[in-house]
Amino acid sequence: MSIHPESITIEPIRFYTEQTIEVSLLRLDKIHTVISGNKWFKLKEYLALALEAKKQGIITFGGAWSNHIVASAYAARQAGLSSIGMIRGEEPLLYSQSLIDALSYGMELRFLSRFDYQQATRGNIMSFPDAENFQFIPEGGKGSPGISGAASILELVPNLPAFSHICCAVGTGTMLAGLANAALPHQEIIGISSLKGTDTLSASIMPFLHPEAARFTILFDYHFGGYAKHPPALIDFMNRFFRTTQVPTDMVYTSKLMFAVESLLKAAYFPEGSSLLVVHSGGLQGNRSLSAGELIF
Ligand SMILES: *Cc1c(COP(=O)(O)O)cnc(C)c1O
Repeated sequence: MSIHPESITIEPIRFYTEQTIEVSLLRLDKIHTVISGNKWFKLKEYLALALEAKKQGIITFGGAWSNHIVASAYAARQAGLSSIGMIRGEEPLLYSQSLIDALSYGMELRFLSRFDYQQATRGNIMSFPDAENFQFIPEGGKGSPGISGAASILELVPNLPAFSHICCAVGTGTMLAGLANAALPHQEIIGISSLKGTDTLSASIMPFLHPEAARFTILFDYHFGGYAKHPPALIDFMNRFFRTTQVPTDMVYTSKLMFAVESLLKAAYFPEGSSLLVVHSGGLQGNRSLSAGELIF
């Protein structure tokens, strides 16, 4: 179960028969069965910093369903580092699959009330014993090391100049910022937010962008009710998309991304002659919290 960047492929994809615009899918989901595609990229520079500074481990933050927590636990273990996961909210009676996985990769879990969690994510954990022995990784890998790690995603695309648009899912916007920094000036990044939101996210990304970064737009119309909401219409789409393309998607991020790209293609959002690179950022392990039989894959 190691990490295999070399197994990532770029595949042409047809959403529907009359599609006139070329779309390619960057399959980051193939990197690993458990680690979300983009999480590994966002973590790698933090891990390098930890190793360089000879830290004993990492401390990071997330909710009970967080892909980032699982990926951090796994990646830290692979790097020979210990890991502590600060989990938002009281300790649940039944652990989510993400928490079970994180524990199985050796992560120590600490449950924080919402108030303490907020304090801690703002860096107010001075009372934490031997904090200096740990590398802090913000929620979702936010921040410069996460963004520059995410920028290296585009090194996997040998024909990068051929694309006019790069489409990706958006949570914290860390991956989008990295893609914008690594993209070429003629390209535009289209981000699809999985969370209900407004454009304050775009403003929070701006300070991290190089002056020559590509333009980006975040669309907030495809959240299907909000983060981790998965109404029947979304599950139906995931099954239909799998039937047409043989590509599995996750219910939090990439299903909403694919739904949005299909809708935008059908609405002629992209000018004729555009060529799209759609980033499949993984997250498939999150589907295990659905009931058996809901998904056909
Ligand atoms: C975490 C995650 C994202 C969101 O990445 P951000 O950098 O937080 O915007 C997108 N897709 C998948 C599958 C993820 O797990």
